[in-house]
Amino acid sequence: MARAAVLGRLIWLAGKVTGLRDETATARTIMLDVPGWRGHAPGQHVDVRLTAEDGYSTQRSYSIASAQDGSRVELTVQRLPDGEVSPYLAQTLEIGYPLELRGPIGGWFVWDPDATDPVLLVAGGSGIVPLMCMIRARAAAASTVPFRLVYSVRTPADVIYADELREREKAGDGLEVSFVYTREVPLGWPGSPGRITRKSLTAPGWLARQDPQVFVCGPTGYVEAAAGLLTRAGHRADRIKTERFGPTGG
Ligand SMILES: Cc1cc2nc3c(=O)[nH]c(=O)nc-3n(C[C@H](O)[C@H](O)[C@H](O)COP(=O)(O)OP(=O)(O)OC[C@H]3O[C@@H](n4cnc5c(N)ncnc54)[C@H](O)[C@@H]3O)c2cc1C
Repeated sequence: MARAAVLGRLIWLAGKVTGLRDETATARTIMLDVPGWRGHAPGQHVDVRLTAEDGYSTQRSYSIASAQDGSRVELTVQRLPDGEVSPYLAQTLEIGYPLELRGPIGGWFVWDPDATDPVLLVAGGSGIVPLMCMIRARAAAASTVPFRLVYSVRTPADVIYADELREREKAGDGLEVSFVYTREVPLGWPGSPGRITRKSLTAPGWLARQDPQVFVCGPTGYVEAAAGLLTRAGHRADRIKTERFGPTGG
């Protein structure tokens, strides 16, 4: 009901693809110019609508990857082999193509760049996208609030934004990044592949008693597992915000 009320005030905007960047073999960033864009908060998403020549239309939700910057909006889409929309966005779309979108949507899963609490970000797969928006917004605001990202991927080749994360961590301004590899670890990695554990979420300095604000995003099962581990480790439920990348559409 609330979502319907909010969506009722949003109009579809005509974006245009201005650039494309392959992030991994299956994930691609789409850079858009969206005249009329009113700005967004880190963590919000948009609805993207595709309409075929015969009038058939379908839509999906995508998190915003870029920090607020005028009419520029970036999305990063992970291609699902049997998906209806993601292969078009991550493979077929070309520079100059139009793309209809509506947003920004969501007022709960957002980070306020003026906030001073430490932040724990927990990403699974393409769940990194809204968390990367928060990391970029922190840098744009020259914030030095401690941020720790725990990022779970299947293999090292599946890390989205790998170079940028490395560079941003090297800046030494309070961003720490750690990885969990579920199927294949990098050469020389101390350990074997495995799922996220309580230990991977509670590195030194990031215990529940520091009371960080926590954002968890990824596939539904991953989000539920991570949120369960966090609450059992003593994090207060009202400090944990979650976003589930389950199927969307209609
Ligand atoms: C708030 C929100 C933000 C999102 N942000 C992003 C984002 O930034 N980047 C991104 O790549 N995706 C994101 N998603 C997921 C996205 O909306 C689509 O669900 C996804 O792109 C698949 O669409 P599709 O049409 O290709 O697949 P569909 O044709 O809808 O589904 C194909 C098959 O895949 C399954 N499936 C659908 N979606 C998923 C999923 N997310 N994970 C696992 N299996 C799935 C379906 O059950 C079905 O079996 C977000 C979802 C939500 C709710």
